[in-house]
Amino acid sequence: MLNIIPKPNFIKEYSGKTKLNEEKIIFKTNNSFLDETYEIEITKERITVTAKTEKAKHYAIVTLRQLKDESGFVPCLKITDFPRFSYRAFMIDSARHMQTIDEIKTYIQAASELKFNYFHWHLCDDQGFRIESHSFPELNVVGSFRNGWGFGNKNTEKYGGFYTKEEIKDVVAFCKERFIEVIPEIDMPGHTKAILATYPELSCRGEKIEVETRPGIHEDIMCAGKEETFDFCFRLLEEVMELFPCEYFHIGGDEAPKKRWDSCPHCQKRIKEENLADSEKLQGYFVNRIVSFVESKGKKAIAWNESLNSDMLSKSVIVSDWMDKTHKCEPFANEGGKLIIEDFYHYYLDYPYGMTPLKKTYTFNPYIEGLNEKGRANVIGVETPIWTEFVEDFEKLCQMCFPRMMAVAETGWTTEENKNYRLFKKNCEAKRAYLASKGIVMTESSKWDPLAYRKAIDLINHYKRFVTKDFIKSLFIKEDD
Ligand SMILES: [Zn+2]
Repeated sequence: MLNIIPKPNFIKEYSGKTKLNEEKIIFKTNNSFLDETYEIEITKERITVTAKTEKAKHYAIVTLRQLKDESGFVPCLKITDFPRFSYRAFMIDSARHMQTIDEIKTYIQAASELKFNYFHWHLCDDQGFRIESHSFPELNVVGSFRNGWGFGNKNTEKYGGFYTKEEIKDVVAFCKERFIEVIPEIDMPGHTKAILATYPELSCRGEKIEVETRPGIHEDIMCAGKEETFDFCFRLLEEVMELFPCEYFHIGGDEAPKKRWDSCPHCQKRIKEENLADSEKLQGYFVNRIVSFVESKGKKAIAWNESLNSDMLSKSVIVSDWMDKTHKCEPFANEGGKLIIEDFYHYYLDYPYGMTPLKKTYTFNPYIEGLNEKGRANVIGVETPIWTEFVEDFEKLCQMCFPRMMAVAETGWTTEENKNYRLFKKNCEAKRAYLASKGIVMTESSKWDPLAYRKAIDLINHYKRFVTKDFIKSLFIKEDD
């Protein structure tokens, strides 16, 4: 039984097997192949790998490694393989809790063996700014640290840090060797309390703000009325872009409450001057200015789906569809906009298996209702994030992600007809020892698809964390106090 994740799209099995050794492998180039297509033909005498690009050759080698049995033999066969989607990404939130560079590399190595090709790195949020900045060194003094290690009950120690430029370059280079591109995210105008704690003058009220110690959505966001905000964003983006050669840049654009803007004289002046109807349109104005800047640097912008709510978003922006409450993604894609599917209910790996069982993640067909043929063609791929408010360490992170991220890898690569859940589960289990040897401890298989009572326990354990002293206090204290 072949044990390859993601499952190759065409396999023709021959009889017999042969020892896998390098002298036996012949590499051939076929320029009529697509960039990620590869072919492997194994006979008793030789192993022929055909591809057009180095990237596809890498995928062939990844597959060959998975074909190898314990005695070093590979079965005779022919595999012709190419991905279903061109965009296959994983996201790590390093803002809420940081991972070490070695831990991030361990994850990237595993992801590369699953043929992921993009790493979306969530590096700044309300709870911390994680990129070394020379243009704004104060960001690393103030914005990179918060008064609390964890969230809720663990709010005692100071927590924080940032990745140096050298560390970031090292991660980018490590990814490049594995044909993975790194997409950084600077989330704006919401989720910016770490920035605003450093530079309160960029907020609407200009008052002192703390780096956030609670999860959730917060009312202090960047002021879209002040020109200084844009000057800051452009300088910061320019500096960060130097570290990341990827053609994509994620500008956030999610979860930005409009309360501050509604009562800010600067924002209201901007709304009037720009002839905008309201604060929602002001977000459209804000995001489009950031997008124009990103594009002037030769890059493509990605934004979370809330950025569509203004009905002003440029069609050139690629939208991450995570939770489209206002149903803006369908018309956007049907009219030519590109979508990445990272559905909250299926692909958010920080939620317990009781809420998002492995089977639910695996069997999700990543299209949304209402897409016509053109809209479906505009879904460029899938992405699976791990948010880390309650994922304090790497062991927990691996438990949440493995094997669910492997399910997303298979959906991103293998066509719907070729997928098989029963076989996939078996293949996951077969990889447990290998993954453990690489530093990744997978969740026990009994927890992958929990029964009803276990689901209930998972959900209670997940949500009881929110019922902390701080949480109860926060129900009675308004942010303004
Ligand atoms: Zn304002």
